[in-house]
Amino acid sequence: MNNSFPICHHCNHATQVKKHGKSRTGFQRYYCLVCRKTFQTRYVYKGNEDKIEKQIERLSTQGHLPQAISTSLQVRLSTVLHYMKPKN
Ligand SMILES: [Zn+2]
Repeated sequence: MNNSFPICHHCNHATQVKKHGKSRTGFQRYYCLVCRKTFQTRYVYKGNEDKIEKQIERLSTQGHLPQAISTSLQVRLSTVLHYMKPKN
């Protein structure tokens, strides 16, 4: 079991994700066997990943703590907190 693998940013599966080379900027890319899409974990830093918002929202709704979501999606904690909707 390799805990460094993130969950899929598209379909939320964690077990069928494989490494898929590196992007031109040197970031690790991943390929999900479930939805057959690639994703990388770092381009969310630029704020142009809209799927990540839904993932964060979903995990948050499921009761995951921001720190755990950050680890699962391999995005910065500040990114998670940015997208998390305040619970009122
Ligand atoms: Zn997937």
